[in-house]
Amino acid sequence: MILTCYYCTKELPSNQMKRCSRCLLVTYCSKECQTISWKASHKQNCKIHPSLVSPDDPNKAVSKAERPEKFTPEWIELEIDRALSRWMQLWRSCFQMYAWMCLDLANHPRERVMTHCMQLIVQPRNFEDDPAKQYFIVEASVVSIADVQARHPTLEVTIDPTDYTRMRFVVIMQNHLGEARRLRLVQWNDIGLEKKRQMDKADSASLGGDSPDSPWVQTLISAVDSMSPSEVEKMFGKKRS
Ligand SMILES: [Zn+2]
Ligand SMILES: [Zn+2]
Repeated sequence: MILTCYYCTKELPSNQMKRCSRCLLVTYCSKECQTISWKASHKQNCKIHPSLVSPDDPNKAVSKAERPEKFTPEWIELEIDRALSRWMQLWRSCFQMYAWMCLDLANHPRERVMTHCMQLIVQPRNFEDDPAKQYFIVEASVVSIADVQARHPTLEVTIDPTDYTRMRFVVIMQNHLGEARRLRLVQWNDIGLEKKRQMDKADSASLGGDSPDSPWVQTLISAVDSMSPSEVEKMFGKKRS
């Protein structure tokens, strides 16, 4: 599997990359890139991965020695978290593109990015080796952020009411009984959003929309089902070597 350095965007096989040991979400080609990135911005965005939070102090990660032993129930829970993080990392830039598309920014007030987000309900696929295929999307929709917070009070969402460049999407992982097991929020800055707000209104409406029959919903679900992340990125004209 090829991963991209979070800082310099160099691409390398996953076994040559270094992963941030706190959030487990970002990878670097070198120690240098990791150090620069940490000082530049990652320090502010790096949250301890949910599976590594110390039971005694929510601001601390457990040490290697304190991690659960293999194949115990705690370890299985941790593996679920990691598989979900890995899956989200692989699809992240695809989901980001769908997230702005679905909000139909040209036909809504600028506050749209603060009040609404894309929500994906996902379920694990058992006995699947490809990390990009370990989850499938059951449901994709546009939801109000206030609703998400009301239903999941443990989810921390900090919204700066003056920041019109920040977008979000939520991933809820459920088991086969439909019970929510994990909840993740992705936030990122997109300086290109103003351009998307000025898109042709009809084009914007045809790409996005709140209805479950909106074309983006089926496109997204089937893309994640049958394509690889880089194929989807290519479809959107994003270059990847
Ligand atoms: Zn790098
Ligand atoms: Zn980190």
